Parts: sequence; structure tokens; C-alpha cells
Amino acid sequence: MTNLADIKGFSKPLITNLHKLGISTIQDLLLHLPLRYIDETRITAIRDLRLGDAAQMEGEIVHAEVSYKPRKALHVRLEDASGQINLRFLHFYPSQVAALAVGKYIRAYGEVRHGFFGYEMVHPQCKSVGSQTIVAETLTPVYPTTSGLTQANIRKAIALAIGQNDLAETLPACVYKNLNLPNFSTSIHALHNPPPDANLSTLENKTMPEWRRLAFDELLSQQLSMRKHYIKRRSLEAPAIAASQKLAPQLLKNLAFILTQSQQKVVAEISHDLMQPHPMRRLLQGDVGSGKTIVAGTAALQAIEHGWQVALMAPTEILAEQHYKKFSQWLAPLDINIAWLTGSQSKIEREAALEGIASGRAQLAIGTHALFQESVQFSKLGLAIIDEQHRFGVQQRLALRKKGEPEPHQLMMSATPIPRTLSMSYFADLDVSVIDELPPDRTPVMTKLVSDERRDEILQRVREACMAGSQAYWVCPLIEESEALQLQTAQDTFAHMQSEFPELNIGLVHGRMKTAEKQAVMQAFTFGEIQLLVATTVIEVGVDVPNASLMIIEHAERMGLSQLHQLRGRVGRGAAKSTCILLYQNKLSETARARLKVIYENNDGFIIAQADLNLRGPGEYLGTRQSGVPMLKIADLERDADLLESAKSMADKLIKEYPQAVEAHLERWMSHAGELVKV
Ligand code: ADP
Ligand code: MG
Repeated sequence: MTNLADIKGFSKPLITNLHKLGISTIQDLLLHLPLRYIDETRITAIRDLRLGDAAQMEGEIVHAEVSYKPRKALHVRLEDASGQINLRFLHFYPSQVAALAVGKYIRAYGEVRHGFFGYEMVHPQCKSVGSQTIVAETLTPVYPTTSGLTQANIRKAIALAIGQNDLAETLPACVYKNLNLPNFSTSIHALHNPPPDANLSTLENKTMPEWRRLAFDELLSQQLSMRKHYIKRRSLEAPAIAASQKLAPQLLKNLAFILTQSQQKVVAEISHDLMQPHPMRRLLQGDVGSGKTIVAGTAALQAIEHGWQVALMAPTEILAEQHYKKFSQWLAPLDINIAWLTGSQSKIEREAALEGIASGRAQLAIGTHALFQESVQFSKLGLAIIDEQHRFGVQQRLALRKKGEPEPHQLMMSATPIPRTLSMSYFADLDVSVIDELPPDRTPVMTKLVSDERRDEILQRVREACMAGSQAYWVCPLIEESEALQLQTAQDTFAHMQSEFPELNIGLVHGRMKTAEKQAVMQAFTFGEIQLLVATTVIEVGVDVPNASLMIIEHAERMGLSQLHQLRGRVGRGAAKSTCILLYQNKLSETARARLKVIYENNDGFIIAQADLNLRGPGEYLGTRQSGVPMLKIADLERDADLLESAKSMADKLIKEYPQAVEAHLERWMSHAGELVKV
């Protein structure tokens, strides 16, 4: 791989600037593709300009003036044989004033707008032209850049890179020809220097074959690295754990309900994985309330029955505590020893738990992040279960897995569904199980959107519900900018509710409370001693109190879609009809309105996740920290869905039949990705 420093023409400062863009090799530069294009191949007569067009014109400056009111601006009037137009600059240097003086002959490129005196261009790009007018032969690319690096610098650097002729084809011709895609070299040339007759719209919306070729290459590199990762994992050793004959059947027999078809299916999938001699990496997806915990319970018992320890990690103390209670209740009749570990335990409790885990006496360890700390030594960890896995980073999941020797199996659970295109791409190295039905006794939650102006009615409604024996959550607004303010708001709301409802027992939970306080409040709410729980979004994950059937969410417009869906999932867990009221502040923005509409209209977590993905894009939806895979730069999972399918179906064949092509391809596309950190 050629480094830039080895090539004539790349100065030190240029190299430093390119580094800022993540570019350090010729290949990186070749793959630094334009954001958009401008058409400088023709000159438009001023008379023919149309509103909204981006166009290039050429003429003489017939008037130039710097005005100071209402604010400083440079006004220039440009004339050609057909007419005149105004050019306006709000920020400018003295050198520009000189270059745009009366009598200068210039070429200007910009967007035609309505101005005070007819058409105008604001901040057009200008350059002076000599007597003969030469227009560009190709469309001009505009690149993503960084401060200190001009478009001209980047264009020059890319021209140098293309000149290196490092454009060898990585793939066998049959692969791209079957897809009607051009070869790599043609594509690179065409995208950096598109011919003047190129179709600007297919060029800009990236549906041109040359764009599709590069999108395909990128998707393929992702598939290849994922598949290689998958294959490597199958060569690792893990304990092969036979099915549970005794404990799991006994647990299921003791339950007050029977598993849904969906639960039975995923229980079987997981059980089968555990029997394999290589590590399971399975993601269990199921909407909020679909009953993932009991599935985790059966998996845990399979391991425990054969002498392996199990770790169950949850992202919040409230949830870990709840799991601890539930498992204690389920597993007590089976005589299974459970250790409980969180960051806020007393030293004595903690040491007892650590000792139990290290000696192997504790068969199941339940806890928060505390579980993967260095001081925790398992005697024989066979299975690590991670609840609400999207709340943990890749490194954290990895740290827990490192606690076992050989590698333990890993079950990840998530109520934030991963849309199909994402699970085919970013999660392609995992096996996925889906619970796609809710237990039969559920009545769907009724969702209402209510303006904050009608708060009084809502308060009345809370009073009635609580007086009638059900319980309610009041969720305080999310204030991302300031945790202190968020806390303040929660405390204010709590005080306000207390004075509003003297007849009710009201509780407060927030993230800054001591564990014991939090536990006491949650326990009182679970036992029905508290009727109204004022809470921050700490209750978002996992909390399960079936008698709660009303939830009010304040400033719902500030929350993300998945977050709202998770919060709403805290109600509708029992047989009673449940309602979730989303209070919003008036004057909603367009996007806020669109988001609330999605939540209002849908109860299905998969549809909501897809909409969330569409609104936010995969980068924000996933976060690199979470997925451990570099984000796609060129391909778009929706637009290029067909290419994703092709890449997926081709990856295994290529790995088997063309190993050298695979290496070359990954070298070109993944040289920076480093070791793929996936769990
Ligand atoms: P989640 O998938 O959101 O983690 P939980 O595991 O907390 O859901 O389950 C939600 C509630 O549904 C719990 O009270 C659980 O005991 C109950 N539950 C689970 N499976 C069934 C079932 N098959 N029938 C009835 N209730 C069930
Ligand atoms: Mg759960």
C-alpha cells in the first residue's frame, strides 16, 4: 500500500491535512469520492438563468460597491451580452474587493435566487478569466474537506493519486459483470472526472453504474470481513453443553404461564447452539414485553445443569435488581445459588459475592457493569447473557466474555429491534433469533398525543386511575444538555405531584439516587404501595410492573423513537387496558411531528425501528462504539439493498474459491478498519 509521503507532489502540510480526513494512502485518496458536482462545462447567458438553477456565467463587472447598512456587504453587478445580475457577498477579504472591481472580467458560479433587485447570487464562486474562454471538459467534483484544505488542493491530490495507476481490479470479472457493473478503474475515473454528458441526477443520487460498483465493493468488503470473522469463530473451542433434562423442564413446569410458540422456537435455537463445541454469538430480539427473560432462564439452566457458571449482565441497577428478584423466585425451588453484584454494594456483600463466583459455588451471577471488572474471577464460566445489549459497548461485551476459558457462549438480548438491512450488514457475523409475538394476555397500549396545554385534564386522569386501584408512571423530560437540570426537573415534578395529589402515595426515581433508595422505591411501586411513580428515563429499560397501566411522558418530542417505544413498553404488561399519553409542547418542528406520528400510529417495535433508522441514518442509529464495525461511507443500505443481497450471497463463494481476490479486496477497502472488534 503506497503511502502519500513516498510520492512526489505531496507536501508535508498537504499530507497533514489529508490525515485529518482519514486519508493516508493512495487507495484512501482514490476512494475519497465527491459529495456532489458542479457543471462548469458550459456558460449560461444571464438572460437564460432560472430561479433555483446552479449555473455558471461570465461577464464584465459594471458596478461594485461596499455598503455598510443594514450590514456590511459587497454588491457587484455583472453584465454579459444578454443582461445583468447582482452578486452579493456578506463575508469578504480586501483581496476579493480588488478582484471584483469595475472593469474586471470574471466567471461566476452559484445558485440563482430572488434578490431585492431581481435575480441575484449570494457568495458565488468567482474567478477572473482572460480574453479566451475555456470551459471545463468534465463536471467539477466537490469533495468533503477540512479547514486548510481547498477544493483545488484536494482535486490536485486526487489527480496525482489517479496518476499512480494503482487501480488494479480486485474482483474476478464474472462477479461484477453479472451485476452489470463496470470495472473498478473505469468507475474511479468516471466519478472523479465525469464526462460532460454524464447524467447529473444519476451522478448525484448515486444510482449511476459507476457509483453502484463502488457501493457494491464497499458492501462486499463488509460481508467478507464479517464472514471471515464468523468462520474464524466456528474454529474456536467452547464447551459443548447438552440439553437440559431436569432443570429447564422443571422451571417451565412451575411457571404460571406456558411459553408462546415464538419463545419455544428461540429456546430451541439457543439450546442447539449451546450444544455446539464452538462459541455461540446469538442475538435474541424481541419487542418489549415479548418475554425474553424466561428464555434467558432456560439457557442459563442448560449450562448450570452441566456444571457451568452463567453470568447475566444488565445495564442499570434497577433492571439487574429486578432480574435478581425474578431469578431468585424462579430458581429457589431448584436449589440454585445466585450471586448478586453491583457497583454500589457494601464491601462485605461484594466480597462474599466475589468469593462465591470465584469458588464456583455461585452458579449464576447477576449484576451490572460490575460483572466484567477485573476483580471478578469465574471458576467456570460457560455462558454470558447480556440483557439490553445495545446499552453496552463492544469492549464491555468483550470484557465479560474474557472471563471464561475456553470462550464462553454468549447470548445477547435486545428489545430495540435491528431492521433487516442492518442485521444483514453490520450484524452479519451474529446469529439472530426473533420472538415475533407477544404473550396472549396482552391488550395493546392505547397511545394519545396531547398538547401540554391540556395538562389539567391529564392530571385528573391520573387521579382517577390511581384512585381506581391501578398505578401510573410520570416520566420527566429528557434534558440532554444538563444532568443537573434534569434532576432538578424531576424533583420539581415530584414536589408538584405531591401537592397536586395529597391523597396518593407518590415515589421518585432518578439516576443519581443511591442504589438502596432506588431499590426501596421500585419495590414499593412493585408491591403497589406507591401509586404514582415520578421517574426520569432510568425506567426505560426492562422494568416490569404489570399493574401499572398508565404512563404520561412529558416533552415526548425531545425523545428518540426507540426510547419512546421502550418507555411505553413499561405499561401494557398486565391484562388491564393501558394508556400512554405523550405530552408535547406546542410548536412542534416538522421532524418532531413526524416522529410522534410514528409512535402514535405504530405498536410494532420493528416498524418503529425501521422508521427511526430512516429518520436518523445508520451512523446515529448504531454508533460505531456499539456495532464495532466501521460505518459505510458510500453504500446506502436502503438505496443499495439489491447490492447488499448480491454481496451477501457472493461472500462465501469468494472466500472459498478466490481467497487471493478476497485479500486484495479487503486490503483496499478495510486497510483502516484495523481488527474488526466484534462480539
Ligand atoms: P422483555 O422481553 O421485555 O424482557 P419480560 O421477559 O420482562 O419481557 O416479560 C414481560 C412479562 O411477561 C413478564 O412479567 C413475564 O413473566 C411475562 N411473560 C413472559 N412470557 C410469557 C408468556 N408466554 N405468557 C404470559 N406471560 C409471559
Ligand atoms: Mg427485558
